Amino acid sequence: MESINPATGERIADIPAWDDAGLDRALEAVARATPAWRDTGFGERARLVRRAAAELRARLDEYAALITREMGKLLRESRAEIEKCAWGCEYYADHAEEFLRDERIATDAGTSYVACQPLGTVLAIMPWNFPFWQVFRFAATALMAGNTAVLKHASNVPGCALAIEDVFRRAGFPPDVFRALLIPTALVERVIADRRISAVTLTGSDGAGRHVAAAAGKHLKKTVLELGGSDAFVVLEDADLEEAATVGAAARMQNAGQSCIAAKRFVLVEAVAEPFLARFKERIRRLKPGDPMREETTLAPLAREDLRRQLHAQVTDSIAAGAKPLLGCEPLPGPGFYYAPSILDRVRPGMRAYEEELFGPVAIVLRARDEADALRLANDSRFGLGASVWTRDPAKGERLARAFEAGSCFVNGMVKSDPRLPFGGVKDSGYGRELSAHGIREFVNVKTVWVR
Ligand code: NAP
Repeated sequence: MESINPATGERIADIPAWDDAGLDRALEAVARATPAWRDTGFGERARLVRRAAAELRARLDEYAALITREMGKLLRESRAEIEKCAWGCEYYADHAEEFLRDERIATDAGTSYVACQPLGTVLAIMPWNFPFWQVFRFAATALMAGNTAVLKHASNVPGCALAIEDVFRRAGFPPDVFRALLIPTALVERVIADRRISAVTLTGSDGAGRHVAAAAGKHLKKTVLELGGSDAFVVLEDADLEEAATVGAAARMQNAGQSCIAAKRFVLVEAVAEPFLARFKERIRRLKPGDPMREETTLAPLAREDLRRQLHAQVTDSIAAGAKPLLGCEPLPGPGFYYAPSILDRVRPGMRAYEEELFGPVAIVLRARDEADALRLANDSRFGLGASVWTRDPAKGERLARAFEAGSCFVNGMVKSDPRLPFGGVKDSGYGRELSAHGIREFVNVKTVWVR
């Protein structure tokens, strides 16, 4: 496991990965901790999860700096991420009991009801792009439901993995209720196959999703898959172009473009394409790459050099196939893995930028004849994570929101996750849901109890 500062390219830490024996010891320890955790009440779990939230807030500066050092995002985005983790913890501490309460159902029995009970230990395989939030949105839920959890974090954020384990330890959780496994991908299938593991959740690319789902299928383990996206940002003729351009730039460039729900495909109705692009380009051009620790920086580096290479290959292949670079479309010189804030126009089916997810600060533009054509283009994707539409007519917006093939559809707003609302995708963006009441019911035994 290696940490490299993406802003400088300097190596921060090398943490040796565990071997089979180390992995086995951790799984055994978690298995021993599981029955007692399952039997704790909601009150005690909520008390500890609230303490985890307090711990996150108390060390917010330290954790935020760690995120920025390991994966490069702007320090203020890292701070917001820690704050959101605390919110997620408090949300489930407040609501888990109500979400999982027994549900009485009248049948021919004396009493019959549904009881939601923990499954055991859940393996979470997580990405580096929101290295705390992705873990906490899973962990707060799983732990409140009475499951124990093991985390296989992305190899470039081992410091975050260990810090998260520490949050739970400092909050007073019993040992081994939550453990970070410092293992390479090569050992993941072994963990999935292990009888001490009950279920698997993965947040990451669709490629990783296919491998994990196949392994989990072989061993009949339940999975939730939160995979990539290529969200459409649809601008209709009657949109407020100033606002759409401002939010569109933020939605594409957050986290240096490395967000699953970033606006990635700008679907513009022809009548407003040029005036929208003029405003959008102006905002993107203003972004200032630099040290992500500094307040004045507004564009962070990409998290790894190989990711920058991959993004640039997608861009240059698309240009070779006829796409038009409007802005940027090249790596920035100097140390660190910076990529110019970019706009790629005239993207068409068959081009890599049309077919694949671009995980970096590159907006692609698709032009639509009218509203119906915009809807067709928005849905012409193998992904289905989020989508947004911009119009001054909310009823029309809502009609489109209902017609988008995606898990989260926003009208005149940026797609974002919120603990109160379910989050997840359709098509190649995965299946299952996180957050809200839906998320906590993914990893429970929905048990029927029937008494004469
Ligand atoms: P990734 O390469 O798929 O890695 C995600 C995690 O899966 C890492 O821990 C990785 O470990 C592990 N992994 C990779 N290949 C695997 C395999 N064959 N078997 C088991 N585990 C495997 O994705 P990423 O580059 O970290 O993250 C970016 C992707 O995640 C994007 O596609 C993004 O859209 C998606 N994402 C989705 C959501 C969502 O909620 N839907 C949220 C955030 C990100 P190593 O690091 O050791 O390779």
